[in-house]
Amino acid sequence: MASSTKCLRTCVGCGRKNSPDGLVRLRTPGRGMADSGRGAWVCRESVACFDRAVDRGKFERAFKTKLDTGQLELLRASFESVCQVS
Ligand SMILES: [Zn+2]
Repeated sequence: MASSTKCLRTCVGCGRKNSPDGLVRLRTPGRGMADSGRGAWVCRESVACFDRAVDRGKFERAFKTKLDTGQLELLRASFESVCQVS
């Protein structure tokens, strides 16, 4: 029942909508406890979506902050650790 409560998230890389199960939620890197709660969703196991989001500045827009190279690397590391593509 209650399938109407299905909530979909949009991948910041490809713009496709998916259920949270098929996506990875990334948060502002390097903020520790001060995390603002902002997040960006990327297709699970899709490095292509991640790269596209980086190229287009989608993460900076989602997090409403400027990301330097180190932060983008942290972001990629957390994305890859969630995906665990071995
Ligand atoms: Zn995607």
